[in-house]
Amino acid sequence: MTKRASFYPTNDPPTIGPDTPLSTEPLTATLAFSPTVEPDIHTDEPDAPMTIREMLEERERRELSSLATLSANTRGRILPLSPDDMRTDFQRDRDRILHCKSFRRLMHKTQVFLSPEHDHYRTRLTHTLEVAQIGRTIARALRLNEDLCEAISLGHDLGHTPFGHAGERVLQRCYQESFSHCQQSLRVVDKLEGLNLTYEVRNGILCHAGDTLADTPEGVIVKFADRIAYINHDIDDALRAGILKPDDIPAELCEVLGETHGARINTMVRSIVAESREKRTVAMEPEIYKATMRLRAFLFERVYTNPEAKGEEGRAEALLETLYRYFVDHPRELPDEFSATIEEEGIARAVCDYISGMTDRYAINLYKSLFIPRVWGQKEA
Ligand code: MG
Repeated sequence: MTKRASFYPTNDPPTIGPDTPLSTEPLTATLAFSPTVEPDIHTDEPDAPMTIREMLEERERRELSSLATLSANTRGRILPLSPDDMRTDFQRDRDRILHCKSFRRLMHKTQVFLSPEHDHYRTRLTHTLEVAQIGRTIARALRLNEDLCEAISLGHDLGHTPFGHAGERVLQRCYQESFSHCQQSLRVVDKLEGLNLTYEVRNGILCHAGDTLADTPEGVIVKFADRIAYINHDIDDALRAGILKPDDIPAELCEVLGETHGARINTMVRSIVAESREKRTVAMEPEIYKATMRLRAFLFERVYTNPEAKGEEGRAEALLETLYRYFVDHPRELPDEFSATIEEEGIARAVCDYISGMTDRYAINLYKSLFIPRVWGQKEA
């Protein structure tokens, strides 16, 4: 069961949530940026000009759905931070995530196919970018907060282990406390990277998978966007790898969802936009949802558990488990940055943070350096 972080600021209860209906007002609001907004929100300094951030916040109030999460209404951060004069709080969170080291490491973490050498397979980074694209498209169409959606999307998998879900299984097995990539993603932004993000972004990251729905409609969109992205790109990569052939995809699902990769994403995205406007809550049309879930089940059966596709997973798990046991037994060999965690939360927690943060290639190279004997080179004459 997904844990909720216990240190959220306890201001007002959220005014919107997944059950809050969405506006069905026509999507005709202009996106034109107007620098001539009346500076009426400066109650204490009526004559002071508005900052760019204040104009952006005003634009959100004016143009977004009444059910959107407004950046000016954020429930705040764990540590106080004076507002930026150019960016809203959610834009600032997006930038903090994009510039952190954990984000760059996503480039060398497996999505499904381990350490792919072929140029066109997805990695955890390209998956993340596809989630952000899908999430932003839906948020924009529903006049919800695109910046919040983007920030949650970019941060949602920061805690993913090397070697995809094989790595997650190792830490779930070895680490006595619970481990999930969602909880770890929150730990990355809060503790390991110290990004001090807003409640709404942290909540969306924590709730992007599992049973708990995010408190904001933008967070619920990311949960859908994550599924739409991986279902479709994992099929695309399985076709590329020859694990699937186009004819393998059940014809009745292609009939409902579309014949091509792009058509299927389009159907799913449009279905969410149509149903959410109609039902006033973030949802997908029942027929499309059913077909999407059947496609996901097909993917589990034919790709995620396919011995050819997953042939290296056993070895990847053994490699990570060996590293885990080694560092639990040799905590002094952990990098210095984990000293405080060892002291405050114990060795196992520090090892878990270290292993989950590794890229595939870092883990492989570390294993080689610790356990594979180096051969003697020929002495130069
Ligand atoms: Mg994901």
